[in-house]
Amino acid sequence: MRRARRAAWLVLLTLCAAQAQVGAAFELRELAPGVFMHSGRQEETSRDNLGDIANLALVVGTRCAAVIDSGGSAAVGRAFVAAVRRTTPLPVCVLVNTHAHPDHVLGNAAFVEAWPGLRIVGHARLPAALAARGPAYLHALQRDLGALADGSRIVAPTETVERETVVDLGGRRLALRAWATAHTDCDLTVHDDASGTLFTGDLLFVERIPALDGSLPGWLAALAELRALKPRHVLPGHGPADPGWPAELDKEADYLNLLAREVDAAIAAGRGLGETLDASAPPSRWKLAEHYHRRNITAAFAELEWAR
Ligand SMILES: [Zn+2]
Repeated sequence: MRRARRAAWLVLLTLCAAQAQVGAAFELRELAPGVFMHSGRQEETSRDNLGDIANLALVVGTRCAAVIDSGGSAAVGRAFVAAVRRTTPLPVCVLVNTHAHPDHVLGNAAFVEAWPGLRIVGHARLPAALAARGPAYLHALQRDLGALADGSRIVAPTETVERETVVDLGGRRLALRAWATAHTDCDLTVHDDASGTLFTGDLLFVERIPALDGSLPGWLAALAELRALKPRHVLPGHGPADPGWPAELDKEADYLNLLAREVDAAIAAGRGLGETLDASAPPSRWKLAEHYHRRNITAAFAELEWAR
Protein backbone atom coordinates (compact mmCIF):
# COMPACT_ATOMS: atom_id res chain seq x y z
CA MET A 1 0.00 0.00 0.00
CA ARG A 2 2.73 2.41 1.05
CA ARG A 3 4.73 1.42 -2.00
CA ALA A 4 1.74 2.01 -4.25
CA ARG A 5 1.23 5.44 -2.72
CA ARG A 6 4.89 6.27 -3.20
CA ALA A 7 4.69 5.15 -6.84
CA ALA A 8 1.63 7.36 -7.34
CA TRP A 9 3.52 10.32 -5.85
CA LEU A 10 6.45 9.65 -8.13
CA VAL A 11 4.19 9.63 -11.19
CA LEU A 12 2.60 12.87 -10.01
CA LEU A 13 5.99 14.50 -9.41
CA THR A 14 7.23 13.41 -12.84
CA LEU A 15 4.04 14.81 -14.40
CA CYS A 16 4.46 18.12 -12.60
CA ALA A 17 8.13 18.33 -13.54
CA ALA A 18 7.40 17.68 -17.21
CA GLN A 19 4.49 20.16 -17.25
CA ALA A 20 6.60 22.78 -15.48
CA GLN A 21 9.37 22.19 -18.00
CA VAL A 22 7.06 22.79 -21.00
CA GLY A 23 5.44 25.76 -19.23
CA ALA A 24 8.80 27.36 -18.49
CA ALA A 25 10.16 26.61 -21.93
CA PHE A 26 7.07 27.87 -23.72
CA GLU A 27 8.10 31.15 -25.26
CA LEU A 28 6.16 33.50 -27.48
CA ARG A 29 8.28 35.86 -29.53
CA GLU A 30 6.92 38.92 -31.33
CA LEU A 31 7.49 38.42 -35.05
CA ALA A 32 5.64 41.59 -36.12
CA PRO A 33 3.47 44.07 -34.19
CA GLY A 34 0.69 41.99 -32.58
CA VAL A 35 1.98 38.74 -34.09
CA PHE A 36 3.60 36.29 -31.71
CA MET A 37 5.15 32.95 -32.56
CA HIS A 38 6.31 29.87 -30.75
CA SER A 39 9.01 27.65 -32.26
CA GLY A 40 8.32 23.95 -31.99
CA ARG A 41 11.34 21.70 -31.58
CA GLN A 42 12.66 19.96 -34.66
CA GLU A 43 12.13 16.52 -33.10
CA GLU A 44 9.69 13.64 -32.94
CA THR A 45 7.12 13.76 -30.11
CA SER A 46 8.62 12.47 -26.85
CA ARG A 47 8.18 12.62 -23.06
CA ASP A 48 10.78 15.32 -23.11
CA ASN A 49 8.96 17.70 -25.52
CA LEU A 50 5.33 16.51 -24.90
CA GLY A 51 4.56 17.07 -28.58
CA ASP A 52 5.81 20.66 -28.68
CA ILE A 53 7.25 20.14 -32.18
CA ALA A 54 5.25 22.44 -34.48
CA ASN A 55 5.31 26.22 -34.82
CA LEU A 56 2.33 27.94 -33.22
CA ALA A 57 1.14 31.54 -33.34
CA LEU A 58 -0.96 34.19 -31.65
CA VAL A 59 -2.36 37.22 -33.47
CA VAL A 60 -3.84 40.01 -31.33
CA GLY A 61 -6.53 42.39 -32.58
CA THR A 62 -8.27 45.19 -30.67
CA ARG A 63 -11.30 43.07 -29.69
CA CYS A 64 -9.86 39.57 -29.36
CA ALA A 65 -7.02 37.29 -30.43
CA ALA A 66 -6.58 34.31 -32.73
CA VAL A 67 -4.39 31.30 -32.21
CA ILE A 68 -2.97 29.35 -35.14
CA ASP A 69 -2.52 25.69 -34.20
CA SER A 70 -2.63 24.46 -30.63
CA GLY A 71 0.32 22.08 -30.17
CA GLY A 72 0.77 18.33 -29.94
CA SER A 73 -0.87 17.58 -26.58
CA ALA A 74 -3.19 19.13 -23.98
CA ALA A 75 -0.05 19.85 -21.90
CA VAL A 76 1.41 21.96 -24.71
CA GLY A 77 -2.01 23.60 -25.23
CA ARG A 78 -2.15 24.53 -21.52
CA ALA A 79 1.34 26.01 -21.65
CA PHE A 80 0.31 27.96 -24.75
CA VAL A 81 -2.87 29.23 -23.00
CA ALA A 82 -0.74 30.45 -20.07
CA ALA A 83 1.65 32.20 -22.47
CA VAL A 84 -1.30 33.86 -24.26
CA ARG A 85 -2.56 35.17 -20.92
CA ARG A 86 0.88 36.59 -20.12
CA THR A 87 0.89 38.33 -23.52
CA THR A 88 -2.60 39.85 -23.82
CA PRO A 89 -5.61 40.48 -21.56
CA LEU A 90 -7.90 39.89 -24.57
CA PRO A 91 -9.72 36.58 -24.99
CA VAL A 92 -8.91 34.12 -27.75
CA CYS A 93 -12.00 34.15 -29.98
CA VAL A 94 -10.66 32.02 -32.85
CA LEU A 95 -8.51 28.92 -33.02
CA VAL A 96 -7.36 28.00 -36.52
CA ASN A 97 -6.14 24.49 -37.27
CA THR A 98 -3.89 24.49 -40.35
CA HIS A 99 -4.47 20.74 -40.93
CA ALA A 100 -5.25 17.50 -39.11
CA HIS A 101 -1.77 16.36 -38.02
CA PRO A 102 -1.50 15.67 -34.30
CA ASP A 103 1.30 18.14 -33.52
CA HIS A 104 -1.02 20.94 -34.71
CA VAL A 105 -4.38 19.95 -33.18
CA LEU A 106 -3.98 17.91 -29.99
CA GLY A 107 -3.74 21.03 -27.82
CA ASN A 108 -7.24 22.17 -28.89
CA ALA A 109 -8.86 20.92 -25.66
CA ALA A 110 -6.88 23.41 -23.56
CA PHE A 111 -8.27 26.35 -25.57
CA VAL A 112 -11.86 25.12 -25.36
CA GLU A 113 -11.46 24.83 -21.58
CA ALA A 114 -9.89 28.29 -21.28
CA TRP A 115 -12.30 30.10 -23.64
CA PRO A 116 -15.51 28.04 -23.97
CA GLY A 117 -17.44 29.01 -27.06
CA LEU A 118 -14.43 30.11 -29.10
CA ARG A 119 -14.62 29.50 -32.83
CA ILE A 120 -12.47 26.65 -34.13
CA VAL A 121 -11.88 26.99 -37.84
CA GLY A 122 -10.41 24.50 -40.30
CA HIS A 123 -10.51 23.26 -43.89
CA ALA A 124 -13.79 21.78 -45.14
CA ARG A 125 -12.16 18.33 -45.09
CA LEU A 126 -10.68 18.70 -41.58
CA PRO A 127 -13.63 17.12 -39.71
CA ALA A 128 -13.44 13.96 -41.84
CA ALA A 129 -9.65 13.75 -41.43
CA LEU A 130 -9.91 14.11 -37.65
CA ALA A 131 -12.70 11.53 -37.47
CA ALA A 132 -10.67 9.04 -39.52
CA ARG A 133 -7.24 9.62 -37.97
CA GLY A 134 -7.99 11.07 -34.52
CA PRO A 135 -8.29 7.79 -32.60
CA ALA A 136 -4.92 6.59 -33.99
CA TYR A 137 -3.29 9.95 -33.14
CA LEU A 138 -4.51 9.74 -29.54
CA HIS A 139 -3.41 6.13 -29.27
CA ALA A 140 0.08 7.04 -30.49
CA LEU A 141 0.25 9.98 -28.06
CA GLN A 142 -0.70 7.77 -25.12
CA ARG A 143 1.94 5.26 -26.23
CA ASP A 144 4.61 7.98 -26.47
CA LEU A 145 3.70 10.11 -23.43
CA GLY A 146 1.83 7.76 -21.07
CA ALA A 147 0.00 9.76 -18.37
CA LEU A 148 1.54 12.97 -19.74
CA ALA A 149 -0.98 12.69 -22.60
CA ASP A 150 -3.88 13.09 -20.14
CA GLY A 151 -6.49 15.62 -21.19
CA SER A 152 -5.54 15.41 -24.86
CA ARG A 153 -8.52 14.75 -27.06
CA ILE A 154 -9.82 15.38 -30.54
CA VAL A 155 -11.77 18.62 -30.75
CA ALA A 156 -13.44 19.13 -34.12
CA PRO A 157 -13.80 22.55 -35.77
CA THR A 158 -16.97 24.52 -35.14
CA GLU A 159 -16.82 25.94 -38.68
CA THR A 160 -15.03 25.07 -41.89
CA VAL A 161 -13.65 26.84 -44.94
CA GLU A 162 -14.49 25.65 -48.44
CA ARG A 163 -12.24 28.14 -50.27
CA GLU A 164 -11.60 31.41 -48.43
CA THR A 165 -12.92 33.31 -45.47
CA VAL A 166 -12.00 36.37 -43.42
CA VAL A 167 -11.82 36.48 -39.63
CA ASP A 168 -12.11 39.87 -37.91
CA LEU A 169 -10.26 40.36 -34.61
CA GLY A 170 -11.11 44.06 -34.36
CA GLY A 171 -8.83 46.31 -36.36
CA ARG A 172 -7.21 43.26 -37.86
CA ARG A 173 -8.34 40.79 -40.49
CA LEU A 174 -7.05 37.30 -41.08
CA ALA A 175 -7.58 35.82 -44.54
CA LEU A 176 -7.95 32.04 -44.40
CA ARG A 177 -7.46 29.98 -47.54
CA ALA A 178 -8.30 26.30 -48.00
CA TRP A 179 -5.99 24.52 -50.47
CA ALA A 180 -6.46 21.60 -52.84
CA THR A 181 -4.77 18.40 -51.61
CA ALA A 182 -1.04 19.05 -51.08
CA HIS A 183 0.80 18.26 -47.79
CA THR A 184 -2.52 16.74 -46.64
CA ASP A 185 -6.07 16.90 -47.98
CA CYS A 186 -6.98 19.67 -45.50
CA ASP A 187 -4.26 22.36 -45.64
CA LEU A 188 -5.25 25.87 -44.64
CA THR A 189 -3.06 28.98 -44.73
CA VAL A 190 -3.59 32.23 -42.86
CA HIS A 191 -2.58 35.74 -43.93
CA ASP A 192 -2.55 38.62 -41.47
CA ASP A 193 -3.19 41.67 -43.64
CA ALA A 194 -2.06 44.18 -40.98
CA SER A 195 1.50 42.84 -40.73
CA GLY A 196 1.76 41.01 -44.06
CA THR A 197 2.49 37.74 -42.22
CA LEU A 198 1.77 34.45 -43.96
CA PHE A 199 1.28 31.35 -41.81
CA THR A 200 1.90 28.48 -44.20
CA GLY A 201 1.11 25.55 -41.91
CA ASP A 202 2.92 22.47 -43.20
CA LEU A 203 2.81 23.57 -46.82
CA LEU A 204 6.30 24.79 -45.92
CA PHE A 205 8.84 22.82 -43.91
CA VAL A 206 12.17 24.51 -43.24
CA GLU A 207 15.18 22.37 -42.25
CA ARG A 208 12.92 19.46 -41.26
CA ILE A 209 12.16 17.02 -44.08
CA PRO A 210 8.73 17.60 -45.67
CA ALA A 211 6.28 14.78 -44.85
CA LEU A 212 3.99 13.78 -47.70
CA ASP A 213 0.47 12.83 -46.65
CA GLY A 214 -1.59 14.29 -49.51
CA SER A 215 -0.53 14.62 -53.12
CA LEU A 216 2.96 15.03 -54.57
CA PRO A 217 1.86 16.87 -57.76
CA GLY A 218 -0.70 18.76 -55.68
CA TRP A 219 1.96 19.94 -53.23
CA LEU A 220 4.25 21.06 -56.08
CA ALA A 221 1.34 23.03 -57.57
CA ALA A 222 0.66 24.68 -54.18
CA LEU A 223 4.34 25.65 -53.86
CA ALA A 224 4.22 27.26 -57.31
CA GLU A 225 1.21 29.32 -56.18
CA LEU A 226 2.82 30.28 -52.88
CA ARG A 227 5.89 31.40 -54.79
CA ALA A 228 3.85 34.18 -56.42
CA LEU A 229 3.01 35.70 -53.02
CA LYS A 230 5.13 38.45 -51.48
CA PRO A 231 4.62 38.17 -47.72
CA ARG A 232 6.54 40.49 -45.41
CA HIS A 233 6.84 37.78 -42.77
CA VAL A 234 6.49 34.01 -42.98
CA LEU A 235 5.90 31.42 -40.30
CA PRO A 236 6.38 27.89 -41.66
CA GLY A 237 4.80 24.89 -39.94
CA HIS A 238 8.26 23.71 -38.90
CA GLY A 239 11.59 25.51 -38.80
CA PRO A 240 12.76 29.11 -38.35
CA ALA A 241 10.47 32.08 -39.00
CA ASP A 242 11.16 34.45 -41.88
CA PRO A 243 13.08 31.89 -43.92
CA GLY A 244 14.51 32.74 -47.31
CA TRP A 245 11.54 33.35 -49.61
CA PRO A 246 11.08 31.87 -52.12
CA ALA A 247 14.40 30.02 -51.64
CA GLU A 248 12.98 27.69 -48.97
CA LEU A 249 9.94 26.92 -51.14
CA ASP A 250 12.36 25.99 -53.91
CA LYS A 251 14.36 23.69 -51.63
CA GLU A 252 11.18 21.91 -50.67
CA ALA A 253 10.12 21.67 -54.34
CA ASP A 254 13.58 20.26 -55.19
CA TYR A 255 13.08 17.49 -52.66
CA LEU A 256 9.55 16.71 -53.86
CA ASN A 257 10.73 16.70 -57.48
CA LEU A 258 13.57 14.33 -56.57
CA LEU A 259 11.02 12.06 -54.89
CA ALA A 260 8.81 12.18 -58.00
CA ARG A 261 11.73 11.40 -60.34
CA GLU A 262 12.97 8.47 -58.25
CA VAL A 263 9.54 6.94 -57.86
CA ASP A 264 8.55 7.57 -61.49
CA ALA A 265 11.75 5.90 -62.72
CA ALA A 266 11.17 2.91 -60.42
CA ILE A 267 7.60 2.45 -61.60
CA ALA A 268 8.60 2.84 -65.27
CA ALA A 269 11.30 0.19 -64.78
CA GLY A 270 8.79 -2.16 -63.16
CA ARG A 271 10.52 -2.09 -59.77
CA GLY A 272 8.37 -2.75 -56.70
CA LEU A 273 8.05 -0.59 -53.61
CA GLY A 274 10.45 -2.70 -51.53
CA GLU A 275 13.20 -2.48 -54.13
CA THR A 276 12.61 1.26 -54.55
CA LEU A 277 12.88 1.79 -50.79
CA ASP A 278 16.12 -0.20 -50.63
CA ALA A 279 17.66 1.80 -53.47
CA SER A 280 16.84 5.23 -52.02
CA ALA A 281 19.08 6.95 -49.47
CA PRO A 282 17.59 9.55 -47.07
CA PRO A 283 18.83 12.98 -48.21
CA SER A 284 21.28 14.19 -45.58
CA ARG A 285 20.43 17.90 -45.77
CA TRP A 286 17.08 17.44 -44.00
CA LYS A 287 16.49 16.91 -40.29
CA LEU A 288 14.54 13.72 -39.41
CA ALA A 289 15.13 12.38 -42.95
CA GLU A 290 15.73 8.90 -41.54
CA HIS A 291 12.19 8.94 -40.07
CA TYR A 292 10.27 10.32 -43.03
CA HIS A 293 12.06 9.72 -46.32
CA ARG A 294 10.96 6.08 -46.57
CA ARG A 295 7.42 7.06 -45.65
CA ASN A 296 7.50 9.72 -48.38
CA ILE A 297 8.69 7.18 -50.95
CA THR A 298 5.86 4.88 -49.88
CA ALA A 299 3.23 7.64 -50.15
CA ALA A 300 4.59 8.85 -53.52
CA PHE A 301 4.72 5.29 -54.84
CA ALA A 302 1.09 4.64 -53.92
CA GLU A 303 -0.04 7.87 -55.57
CA LEU A 304 2.11 7.79 -58.73
CA GLU A 305 1.59 4.10 -59.40
CA TRP A 306 -2.11 4.81 -59.97
CA ALA A 307 -1.35 7.85 -62.07
CA ARG A 308 0.46 5.77 -64.73
ZN1 LIG B 1 1.77 18.21 -40.87
